[in-house]
Amino acid sequence: MYANVIIDISHEKLDKTFQYRIPPELEDQIQAGTQVEIPFGSGNHLRKGYVVGLTATEEFDKERIKPVAGVVAGSVTAESQLIQLAWWMKERYGSTMNQALKTVLPVKQKVKQKQARFIRRLLTREETLEAAGEAGRKGYKARERLLLALADSEEIPWQVAANQMNLSSATIKPMAEKGLIALESQTVFRNPKIGKDLASGEISLNQEQSRIAAEFADRYDQGIRETSLLYGVTGSGKTEVYMEMISHVLQKGRQIIVLIPEIALTYQTVMRFYRRFGSLASIINSRMSAGERYDQLERARSGEVRIMIGPRSALFTPFAHLGLIIIDEEHETAYKSEISPRYHARETAEHLAEMNGASLVLGSATPSLEAYSRALKGEYRLCRLTKRAKEDSRMAAVQVIDLREELKSGNKSIFSRRLQEAMARRLERGEQTMLFMNRRGYASFVSCRSCGEAIRCPHCDVTLTLHFGQKLVCHYCGYETATPKLCPSCGSPYIAGFGTGTQKIEELTKRMFPQARVLRMDMDTTSKKGGHEEILSAFADKEADILIGTQMIVKGHDFPNVTLVGVLAADLSLYTSDFRCGERTFQLLTQAAGRAGRGNLEGEVLIQTYNPEHYSIQCAAGQDYESFYAREMVYRDMLRYPPVCQMLAVLASSGREDALDTAMSDLNKWAAEAGKGRDIQMIGPAQATIYKVNDIYRKILYLKDENYDILIKLKNYMDERSRQALWHGHVAVQYDFA
Ligand code: ADP
Ligand code: ZN
Ligand code: ZN
Repeated sequence: MYANVIIDISHEKLDKTFQYRIPPELEDQIQAGTQVEIPFGSGNHLRKGYVVGLTATEEFDKERIKPVAGVVAGSVTAESQLIQLAWWMKERYGSTMNQALKTVLPVKQKVKQKQARFIRRLLTREETLEAAGEAGRKGYKARERLLLALADSEEIPWQVAANQMNLSSATIKPMAEKGLIALESQTVFRNPKIGKDLASGEISLNQEQSRIAAEFADRYDQGIRETSLLYGVTGSGKTEVYMEMISHVLQKGRQIIVLIPEIALTYQTVMRFYRRFGSLASIINSRMSAGERYDQLERARSGEVRIMIGPRSALFTPFAHLGLIIIDEEHETAYKSEISPRYHARETAEHLAEMNGASLVLGSATPSLEAYSRALKGEYRLCRLTKRAKEDSRMAAVQVIDLREELKSGNKSIFSRRLQEAMARRLERGEQTMLFMNRRGYASFVSCRSCGEAIRCPHCDVTLTLHFGQKLVCHYCGYETATPKLCPSCGSPYIAGFGTGTQKIEELTKRMFPQARVLRMDMDTTSKKGGHEEILSAFADKEADILIGTQMIVKGHDFPNVTLVGVLAADLSLYTSDFRCGERTFQLLTQAAGRAGRGNLEGEVLIQTYNPEHYSIQCAAGQDYESFYAREMVYRDMLRYPPVCQMLAVLASSGREDALDTAMSDLNKWAAEAGKGRDIQMIGPAQATIYKVNDIYRKILYLKDENYDILIKLKNYMDERSRQALWHGHVAVQYDFA
């Protein structure tokens, strides 16, 4: 056996591995991640390095390969853990070791000694609140916003003020001149200071919350390490429970990673953690430069930071004594990587927790089917929060509106009469409305406006995708058909590709309510840095009556003055060629419904749809996760989709169609060979959703089996065989677990 060793752990040098022979007496001590001592260079000086791979074949002259000198004792460093994790990811998800290492190891980059500027308040909290009130009365919205934030925390980084709160120096400088605030700068990074007056205003947990936290602590102390699913409606106080658990694990001297989807990583959420844990907590996000991120990871490594909060990649924080991982909103699609290694943060966290003897907590108001089914089977511990934590906040009343009926009675507008009336009432009362456009699968399928049926594949029970407005194609099996002129189920001529975008809705809204102030939030309006926050804070400041947007507007934000949420075409996300579309629709609608009535005003939610009887819509309207779960599991079970079965997609791509065809039929054959004796289900090969991209052709093959390990075996076999194939080098093969 041979070990590949890297001496310098940096992104640039990852390719530079050195091969060493493993002496028999060390064989069972060495694996990926082990720190070893090796003779190096002509003088054979002993140096330390990390093993990044094991092979049975020598890569150069056998005589010249030197032996590993020894294993560094007690060397469980954060690096060795991360390298071990990279090895696991490479095996599990099918990538190169290099790709895996690049994913887990930080890019070394020194931060330029930037001056961090802070805005500090000079008044007391009460005086600041008073000044904010006065600014508000005079209509100085920006000034009011800054003062309110300063009442909460004594100081705010200039960057936060500029990027997240959209305050310009034209607002800030005059306030400094008047002596309301001070501007300070510092070269070292640190968290903003939190006012003492706020730290004391701690929340006392309600009965459900404290029971869950106490049981967690108790089991943790007994040495039980496990995965728990914290299932609680939006606003039920999950974050408070997380903080209690974190507190407990901190006391044990261990470290904590908290994953939050980027889009929900708002200023308010982060401040809650800072308030409770001060400088022990830190965040990383995608807006940081490589240098800033590296700086944060170094603070974690040195022990200064003990709680790291961030999106998916925060999982790779170099903690040597990890004790707890929390994944908030565990059902979010953002937890799955779209580039190789295509890892899922939930599974990777589970493995990382096991390696470290840590616990894992998953939280959601709409758990993924994967997580909930495992909780029901007893593989995860199920903890439930059944009601909203704040006394006065209620769930909104939800109504489903049948758009087919609207069409029948002559209303061809995209707004039902009921929604129009409800919007008019909000404008009269000075309350706010959110219009949500479910835009997934935008304009890519064909459906009937009379009966609501979308045109589906006869073999796969997925919606056919419209190609260039003419032919319909199944992305799972390759089935093709011409777009019909009449609806196949009811004969109506009113069939069309769906194509109403947010811009169109904005136009129509303005035409219908010329007096209304309308804001739109979508990819176009948020592409510039900070565009997101600018729109949200304008809406929060009541600078608009109606906010129109896509998925982005439904996540995590609290607008107490919003009393109406309209979902324009709830079905849109039902017709994507993804077996999870019912689940996504349910999650989005549930979240959208959670936006109305967050304050003490009563909320109303109107869901418009051509499919009022679809269970995803019915269950979301009834806020009934259990029924949704039961119905959806029947579907998954019938068609052998995850979590009932495991599914592996094999995606091959090439600039040459002939090579691609040969590769695909080889892969198909090898999968059958390796799976002999097992009832492996194979679907395809078929053309990928977009067959040709930049002159590269792509085909896909799906493999299904109940056992994940069997699919990994198949993947490894296909991978090994393709290395020796004639088309190797002409066709790229990627593996993706659903
Ligand atoms: P979730 O994470 O489940 O959406 P949060 O933890 O954000 O819920 O709590 C929602 C709101 O309820 C927050 O404003 C929070 O401060 C408040 N809250 C949570 N727990 C309590 C409690 N025990 N007493 C009073 N307010 C609470
Ligand atoms: Zn029809
Ligand atoms: Zn099909």
